[in-house]
Amino acid sequence: MKLLFISTSVGALGSGIGGGVELTLHNIASIMLRRGHQLQILSPTPSTWTDLPVIQIPGNLQIIAQSQERTDPITMPENSVLGNMWEYARQHQQEYDLILNFAYDWLPFYLTPFLQCPIAHLVSMGSLGDALDQIIAQTSQKFPGTIGFHTPSQAATFPHLTPPLYYLSSGIDLSLYKFCSEPKQQIAWLGRISPEKGLEDAVAVAKETKIPLKIMGKMQDTFYWDDICQKYQNAPIEYLGFLSTNDMQEVVRECQALLMTPRWVEAFGNVALEALGCGVPVISYSRGGPAEIVQDGKTGFLVEPDSVSGLIAAVSRLDEIDRYTCRRQAETEFSLEALGERYEKWFSAILANC
Ligand code: UDP
Repeated sequence: MKLLFISTSVGALGSGIGGGVELTLHNIASIMLRRGHQLQILSPTPSTWTDLPVIQIPGNLQIIAQSQERTDPITMPENSVLGNMWEYARQHQQEYDLILNFAYDWLPFYLTPFLQCPIAHLVSMGSLGDALDQIIAQTSQKFPGTIGFHTPSQAATFPHLTPPLYYLSSGIDLSLYKFCSEPKQQIAWLGRISPEKGLEDAVAVAKETKIPLKIMGKMQDTFYWDDICQKYQNAPIEYLGFLSTNDMQEVVRECQALLMTPRWVEAFGNVALEALGCGVPVISYSRGGPAEIVQDGKTGFLVEPDSVSGLIAAVSRLDEIDRYTCRRQAETEFSLEALGERYEKWFSAILANC
């Protein structure tokens, strides 16, 4: 297939602002190329990726959906990079069999009937706003089978969807994550530093248990971070910055566990896979994607949402978890090959319906 992937419009690929979408896009693109398909990626400029075919598109970024209220109207900046990427798609659509949209934005759904090339939409977050919910529901009705989600619990946050819906899960290149059987006395927390990720609960665990917490991820909200540091002075925490996948896994693999403390319905949670890939158990609130990934008591623990004491109790039971079982779960359920097969099946079904 000749594929055009259109990235998120909130940040350039490699910036980290796109969160898990960046790794997801990277992994799907890599496996599609390996399976013999042709592919181009559109990204807002300046992308730092050099290992995949990226076309850089200039323009102003969209604001992130998490910062908006449910009833806010759709907004576009002047010289919108989202608009510019879709103008490129309009002009070049005859060169492709299928377009895959990664943007959690209203415009690509709205434009779907205006393009001749079939468009698949990968929805990367749970429901956050009424206008987007409505256009996703309309697109699922007019173009059945073109809407993909990571998990059923993510899809369940959206109203009025018309089946069939596709659940694509996620996958990682396991060769990039090294197994470690003997961790140090430390715990990891990974993700964008942003309120919906609930970092303060992981910091509270560090303060209470005195187990050092290694924090890695894009600094998205410095007020939020300063507030946490102010509130939990003397907690044994260290912020290591936004690391490359390799540097990140070097730290994560030596941790006793990964803590996931989402306040929202996490669509998936790529970081859970990355930890499991290193043999690191995942302790997460039992909601959204992580609740569908973690095997409670086997590859980590699922804890009552927003319960810090539940997280602490789970940390005290970590010796019950076999780290080889964690790595094995990543290998059997979340390999890049399995991911490639799922996407190929989805794309083929869309093309068969055209
Ligand atoms: N990440 C990274 N470097 C870091 C910390 C995190 O590259 O130092 C990446 C991580 O690999 C993952 C993403 O940040 O792909 C976070 O994605 P996730 O799906 O967990 O959450 P999202 O940000 O999409 O809500």
